[in-house]
Amino acid sequence: MPTAYITHPSFLLHTMGSWHPESPARLRAIDDRLHAAHLFDFLTHLEAQPVQRSQLLRVHDAAYIDFVEAASPREGFHALDPDTSMNPHTLDAARHAAGGAVMAVERVMRGEVANAFVACRPPGHHATRNQAMGFCFFNNVAVAAAHALEAHGLERVAIVDFDVHHGNGTEAIFTDDPRVMLCSTFQHPFYPHVGADTASEHIVNVPLPAGTTGHAYRAAFTAQIMPRLEAHRPQMLFFSAGFDGHREDDMAQFGLVEADYAWITEQVMGVAACHAAGRIVSLLEGGYDLSSLGRSAAAHIKALAEL
Ligand SMILES: [Zn+2]
Repeated sequence: MPTAYITHPSFLLHTMGSWHPESPARLRAIDDRLHAAHLFDFLTHLEAQPVQRSQLLRVHDAAYIDFVEAASPREGFHALDPDTSMNPHTLDAARHAAGGAVMAVERVMRGEVANAFVACRPPGHHATRNQAMGFCFFNNVAVAAAHALEAHGLERVAIVDFDVHHGNGTEAIFTDDPRVMLCSTFQHPFYPHVGADTASEHIVNVPLPAGTTGHAYRAAFTAQIMPRLEAHRPQMLFFSAGFDGHREDDMAQFGLVEADYAWITEQVMGVAACHAAGRIVSLLEGGYDLSSLGRSAAAHIKALAEL
């Protein structure tokens, strides 16, 4: 079965200013690399549908959804935090990013595709139930995980967040829901400056110092995440797939390379094969150096597609 590649034209229209690193060029870089690596034609290409309000309400407060909708500008930009702003297309893109996440769950659960990658913008893992931050508006991976639980009756899922920043929004949303295991590796101390002290049955935070390279990363992942993931026996797995820990990405100071992202993907695919009939949905989060983002995402997708 193929891997789905889900995107939407609105993802290229949301911008936060020409200077902003979270730019439409990121998705073009991934597309270009998939073509160059001869992967593009082996994927099942789908256009995201908009999320339904009821699907957002599983992880966001009604008042917050109303707030984001009301903040959508007719022209120009409307800043919700110092580095997170809306243009006239942002609301549409955010709705399709979360909707693409739901669509990915649907297609994978129905067995139409083996797994799915959603090349979405805006990203989601910093968005909490009631706050936009860190380039994020709706928490796409949380919407996806909640959909798997509530619409498909799954009892246990797991999210592996390998973005270089901690998935604080995802942790906050599921902090009281042991059905969702969150495993988050992140540079510490670093933005968003939370997560290092969390100790919980189902929140597995792995803070790592600046300068962490693949060898140390893999050792930490193997020792601290794999046993917890196996014990949780997730029936579906999700990636918050951020590639800003690449050594060429100067947003942060990790030293990961493409082979490390392929390795992470394969580790989690092993867990999925054992417990989840292979079901994986991966959602793009960060990654700001265009060349290494394209190469890393392609390595991740190539592993997912077993090409
Ligand atoms: Zn990040």
